[in-house]
Amino acid sequence: MGAPEAFVQTADVGHWIGGSRTAGHSTRRQTVWNPATGQAARQVLLAESADVQAAVAAAHAAQPAWGDMPPIRRARVLNAFLGLLNQHRDSLAAAITAEHGKVFSDAQGEVTRGIDVVEFACGVPQLLKGDFSDQASTGIDNWTMRQPLGVVAGITPFNFPCMVPMWMFPLALACGNAFILKPSERDPSASVMMAELLQQAGLPDGVFNVVQGDKVAVDALLAHPDVRAVSFVGSTPIAQYIYETGAHHGKRVQALGGAKNHMVVMPDADLDQAVDALVGSAYGSAGERCMAISVVVLVGDVADRIVPRLAERARALKVKNGMEADAEMGPIVTREARDRIEGYIATGVGEGAQLVVDGRGCRVPGHEDGFFTGGTLFDHVQPGMRIYREEIFGPVLVCLRVKDFAHALEVVNGHEFGNGVSIFTGDGGAAREFARRVQVGMVGVNVPIPVPMAWQGFGGWKRSLFGDMHAYGEEGVRFYTRQKSVMQRWPDSIGKGAEFAIPTAV
Ligand code: NAD
Repeated sequence: MGAPEAFVQTADVGHWIGGSRTAGHSTRRQTVWNPATGQAARQVLLAESADVQAAVAAAHAAQPAWGDMPPIRRARVLNAFLGLLNQHRDSLAAAITAEHGKVFSDAQGEVTRGIDVVEFACGVPQLLKGDFSDQASTGIDNWTMRQPLGVVAGITPFNFPCMVPMWMFPLALACGNAFILKPSERDPSASVMMAELLQQAGLPDGVFNVVQGDKVAVDALLAHPDVRAVSFVGSTPIAQYIYETGAHHGKRVQALGGAKNHMVVMPDADLDQAVDALVGSAYGSAGERCMAISVVVLVGDVADRIVPRLAERARALKVKNGMEADAEMGPIVTREARDRIEGYIATGVGEGAQLVVDGRGCRVPGHEDGFFTGGTLFDHVQPGMRIYREEIFGPVLVCLRVKDFAHALEVVNGHEFGNGVSIFTGDGGAAREFARRVQVGMVGVNVPIPVPMAWQGFGGWKRSLFGDMHAYGEEGVRFYTRQKSVMQRWPDSIGKGAEFAIPTAV
């Protein structure tokens, strides 16, 4: 296989409304960077409220016919989309690497995890089947059906510009809704590429729309009376804002927030396996994953055995432009994000943690202006420190030392976030106890990044998720539909006169 083709588009990235690209009413623009070179690559338009009104109007007009279409026919459109996604997987991955920075193989993996959800959504006729009670009362049947909500919106983060939107729109569309995507302004190109593929797959115009932008677009979506539900993925303060504001406007909201994922390493763990798992999950995608491991809880004597090995691996990381075949870690998404991460490293030093590997000031030959920072490792971190409590969202792994399993569990459960967690151990009993007792939504046993499959559903606990339902899986189907119950009786049983007591089975 030859080298992947780089993404070289320079035109402004605009909106996708009613089946075509448009600049709408937007005059504000923001630079989209290539983080590996540090150069401005293109501009993204930032929507005004009028652009959101236009997108909602297009969606509102298109939704009734789409929602009325038999689910099997909607599924066929998604099936055609699936074929196109597979065909264009590498172009999407190249766009992700160009704007986000993650290495190309990781970007390909991201597209594949999105494709999983499309495959699941193709089975939607089975998922939309209701329940039926024959003879609920004499001559009466009762059944339930699930109907679309109407127009729904998704607001997504920079770190998975393909996969996270695909946690949302394949199921929302399969369930008969029209969808408006507000992607991250930092890596907007993939959103419009996916819109074009949906159109090629036969999706009627107006059923899927993209509005590029910032808080102006988000606030217009949250306030619009025709937007029935909002799915959000991003940082915790914004997730809470979306949840509260959306609820205030009477919308159904699922808002997935930030994380500080722990990995507990027990003294009986296979250390080779644990080191590989930690290096990949802490430094993969430069730590810019909501399921990245950013804290390792070292139990008993394991710390002295594992820290030197982690340090050696962190120093040896191949930090490069993500399009290079042997790159293990790419740049950070923007200069500001890189500076924020390096600021946290300085904070950790100031707080008295032991800086074992310092990734600051990382220079990549040929890419001197790129937004790189190297893998960083702290030891002897205390639970009160900011580098432990706060989400850094970069390649910074902090080690906490505890004396036993009970303390490890207490540390994990004491954190405000509860997205993902993992335990590495050779003891099935400890693993079982951990999985049952831990206050976290997604648990890995000897698995570092336990991102559930498309049919299982994804969601954290505590301040990592606001709302009742997880993303995708059957919870996703429930989120994007509402249940209707029908009770039916036919003429041979009528004519008994009005009944004033509540009906009971007769
Ligand atoms: P972010 O919260 O800055 O942005 C997310 C979205 O919200 C973007 O579309 C952005 O335009 C919009 N937004 C930003 N500020 C806003 C404001 N003041 N008002 C209204 N909208 C606003 O997040 P990010 O930096 O793009 O992504 C990284 C964060 O996302 C991390 O905290 C990470 O943990 C989290 N994340 C969580 C999950 C999960 O499943 N729980 C998955 C991926 C990322």
